[in-house]
Formats: sequence, structure tokens, C-alpha cells
Amino acid sequence: MGKVEHIFALARKSSLWPMQFGLACCAIEMISTYMAHHDLDRFGVVTWPSPRQSDVMIVAGTVVKKMADPIRLLYEQMPAPKWVIAMGSCATCGGPYIRSYSVVMGVDHIIPVDIYIPGCPPRPEALMDGLIKLQGKIMKEQGRDISLAREQA
Ligand code: SF4
Repeated sequence: MGKVEHIFALARKSSLWPMQFGLACCAIEMISTYMAHHDLDRFGVVTWPSPRQSDVMIVAGTVVKKMADPIRLLYEQMPAPKWVIAMGSCATCGGPYIRSYSVVMGVDHIIPVDIYIPGCPPRPEALMDGLIKLQGKIMKEQGRDISLAREQA
């Protein structure tokens, strides 16, 4: 692996900017993870209110079918390389709404997901663990622009 790709991967994993939005109760745990007690800033994770400058989407909460198109649109507005974290059992597989007519059975039916975090809701430590796993994945994928390849497919 070239040194330039290694430096790019280091920079990307050290300055993740998740787009700031939440869909349901998991969002409360996500918000508390950003607060001073858990302090995500120390990992270089800074929330951002626009998809156009964000490289991570944290889908925290129940994905109802009416939200499928807005989520896809927001994902498409994010520049590559970009990554998605499904936080909680709703975003992972429908969670307690597994038999609901109005819920998407996992956000990976709409957009590609890189990291799945189990729990209902996951604790802040679980979200931090997911972000650290994503950082590890970015370092492994260095030189292979996975999200660009997905878009071109
Ligand atoms: S996984 Fe549980 S806590 Fe999270 S959005 Fe679904 S019902 Fe709420």
C-alpha cells in the first residue's frame, strides 16, 4: 500500500464528520454520546448539519417507509468516500417493529451499511465502539475507494 493512500486513510479516519439527524429513540443515545461525558470530539468525530460536507451517516432510529426516499437523497448528497452506521435494532433489521407494515426492515434495504450496532437502544459506549470499528475499516480499505466503487456499480 502506498504512503499517500496511508496518509489519506489516516486523515479520513481521524476526522469523521457524521451528518446530524436522528429518527427515533436511538437518537437520544447518539446525542448523549456527543455530549461532554463521552466526548466524541476526542476521536476527531464532529457532527455536521449538512450532507454535503459529511462523510458518515449514523442512522439512529426506526426507518419508516415514508423516510426511505429522504434518507436515500441525503446519502446521495454526501461526497465519496462515505460510510453508513446502522445504530440499533430498528435501523439494523426493523427491531420491535419487525411485523409492521410501515417500517423498513433495516436501512440496508435503502443504502449500503458499513457498521451495524446492536441494541435497543445501544449505549453510548456501543456507538463509540462502532465508530472505532469504522476507523479500523477505513484503514483496511485504504487505496480501495469502496463507496466510489459502489456508486459506479
Ligand atoms: S432500536 Fe429500540 S431504542 Fe432504537 S429506535 Fe428502535 S425501538 Fe427505539
